[in-house]
Amino acid sequence: MTSGGAMLARSARLAAVRDRMRELSVECLLLSVGADLPWLTGYEAMPLERVTMLVLPADDEATLVVPELEAPRVAHDARLFAMRPWKESEDAIEVIAALVAGRSRLAISDRTWAVHLLALERRLRATSWRAASEVTSPLRSVKDPLEIAALAAAGAAADRVAGALLSGEIPLIGRSEADVSAELGRRLVAEGHVKVNFAIVGSGPNSASPHHEPGARRIEAGEPVVCDFGGSLQLDDTVGYCSDITRTVVTGEPGGELKELYAVLQEAQQLAVQASRVGVACEAVDAAGREHIARAGYGDAFIHRIGHGIGIEEHEEPYMVAGNETRLVAGHAFSVEPGIYLKGRFGARIEDVVVATKSGPLRCNSADHLLHVVAT
Ligand code: ZN
Ligand code: ZN
Ligand code: ZN
Repeated sequence: MTSGGAMLARSARLAAVRDRMRELSVECLLLSVGADLPWLTGYEAMPLERVTMLVLPADDEATLVVPELEAPRVAHDARLFAMRPWKESEDAIEVIAALVAGRSRLAISDRTWAVHLLALERRLRATSWRAASEVTSPLRSVKDPLEIAALAAAGAAADRVAGALLSGEIPLIGRSEADVSAELGRRLVAEGHVKVNFAIVGSGPNSASPHHEPGARRIEAGEPVVCDFGGSLQLDDTVGYCSDITRTVVTGEPGGELKELYAVLQEAQQLAVQASRVGVACEAVDAAGREHIARAGYGDAFIHRIGHGIGIEEHEEPYMVAGNETRLVAGHAFSVEPGIYLKGRFGARIEDVVVATKSGPLRCNSADHLLHVVAT
């Protein structure tokens, strides 16, 4: 049994999903691996060959079809869904088909294994298939107070790791990027994350590669180091929610060019955060940072969108990118992470997670933005 708060949040989500299914004329939603299932039920399907699937008709009770040996992991709440454990000797696809019971307008998890979808296609007489995200994404992207609390807790934990980086408590000079990356990961766990999702460490010329894979390169004195890290943190009985933070430090007094570039970056990040207000289009948040960077002459050096939604997944809707006219509503949670990358030379990025609220942008990160010199 889950706590009253989590139970209420999940039943409100179920009701909203059913409303949206009716709007889209989806008769039955099938949820397997991915974030939709834990968002609705608190249970994350194991990404294995044995199929787990919540069969959720718009007009009837939901049933979780789950391998019998995994059923004990489910914190089952009968007020939300029924359970149908299946035995090794049963055909799970047959069990699912029986629950779908002739409904023909279906939606299925974006990340359902193709073999499971193909088996269902053969068994069901579906007239239309949609991606489950068409139903769930607009709902999941708007966080409720429990989810915002979980994101804030994850952000605060990541901030403590960032604080150790900025203060020089994490030595850099002479260590490999991979070694520093491993330490960032260990610290994320020590600060309460249940899982590390990534810990990018890009030093010297590698700081100009936004998704650099930390490797054997030893960090030298006098160069920028971009550290972008995050994990999942579980607050009470929520499922895991993600942190994602980037800070750039320099291992010695920065040169004039880096100082100038960093000042532009810091202003751009601040402008984009300030633009993150209810009613503003996602693309306008991107533009607020991008135009500032372009005016300073670095337009071609900012080669990615300014941010992504964040929640149970590290990257989810809404995306802060040119062309996305979605208007922010209270509860949209996303990263604001401009970067300036001078190819083959050096780069920098600053990233915070922000939630749009009625009283303006709420930052989930508060580690400071100054260019810290870490000469250790
Ligand atoms: Zn990224
Ligand atoms: Zn990041
Ligand atoms: Zn990010």
